Amino acid sequence: MKKYKNLCLKLTPQRLAILEYLEGNTDHPSASDIYNAVCKRFPTMSFATVYNTLKALKGKASIQELTIDPDKKRFDPNTVHHHHLICTECRKIIDIETEFELDLPELQKHGFEITGNHIDFYGVCPECAGLALQEYGGQLH
Ligand code: ZN
Ligand code: MN
Repeated sequence: MKKYKNLCLKLTPQRLAILEYLEGNTDHPSASDIYNAVCKRFPTMSFATVYNTLKALKGKASIQELTIDPDKKRFDPNTVHHHHLICTECRKIIDIETEFELDLPELQKHGFEITGNHIDFYGVCPECAGLALQEYGGQLH
């Protein structure tokens, strides 16, 4: 909560519940994930409240909006620089906190002074791989 204290956000109980849900959350939830979770405590809360809170946090650079899931925007309260590992089956997103020594060839820089990078790694997570193996095995027998 410390992180959100000095943002000058109007803190209604619903907003607080949203912030509490987001703090330290590494699941990269979508707006509807957040809505469904917080709704349990505030059944009268509207989706617009979630949407507006996320928008306000994004405006204050306190949350990252991720566009790596084509089905829905995902949100990341971890604003420290990091990379992502994404399961192409279940869309699980895992934080990768290793720094990579990457540089663009001079010609590809287009005159830019490069200040950063963000890498998305894709693959199939062990859970999904195990499932696929079971299904495949089932077909063979
Ligand atoms: Zn998966
Ligand atoms: Mn992340």
